[in-house]
Amino acid sequence: MRRLIYGVHHFKTSDFPSNKELFERLAHGQNPDALFITCSDSRVDPCLLTKSRPGELFVMRNAGNMVPPFCCCHPCGAAATIDYALSVLKVKDIVVCGHRDCGLVKAALNPPPNLDQMKGLSPWVALAENVRRVLGKLEEQCCSIELLNAAIEEHVLIQLENLQTHPAVIECLASGQLTLHGWVYDIRSGDVYGYCAESNQFEKLNKPADDNAI
Ligand SMILES: [Zn+2]
Repeated sequence: MRRLIYGVHHFKTSDFPSNKELFERLAHGQNPDALFITCSDSRVDPCLLTKSRPGELFVMRNAGNMVPPFCCCHPCGAAATIDYALSVLKVKDIVVCGHRDCGLVKAALNPPPNLDQMKGLSPWVALAENVRRVLGKLEEQCCSIELLNAAIEEHVLIQLENLQTHPAVIECLASGQLTLHGWVYDIRSGDVYGYCAESNQFEKLNKPADDNAI
């Protein structure tokens, strides 16, 4: 904890004063560009990855960047976050960003023997079991890393499908006010791959042609 508290002190005495105007503006409210859904994995930093400053991303994180299908039977943190982002903050984009070497996807592909003993994690991993459909598609590929990478991409696409069961998402997509994006972050290379519907593949995100459009 010493390091964390030292960090808080450094933030207050150094970063905060040098961004005083920004924080003064943020004290009056937020107007983020996008809802960014990613894994709780400590190696994934959405703001660092996208060069975003405080106030620019509305972030939802959980183990495995999961979006459970909408269900009105019980309260759900993901459903509430998605609804707030769209209905109140009026974000125009939702990014689901998975990552290479994701432990949740690994567990969904090959459940560890002690999974049943983890009462919180076990049902959550079960929610991701659809990812096992890649096993059928990639029968010939025996390389486990290729299979895992394919499963990580498939997992992102499943979350995009699940997003489209949420009423606010359905409504905003129908009115053309929302775009969904599927990304995968490669921790080792720093590359980010985005899903391209035309090619039905994840392709490396290239720098936008027009810098002024950002
Ligand atoms: Zn992960």
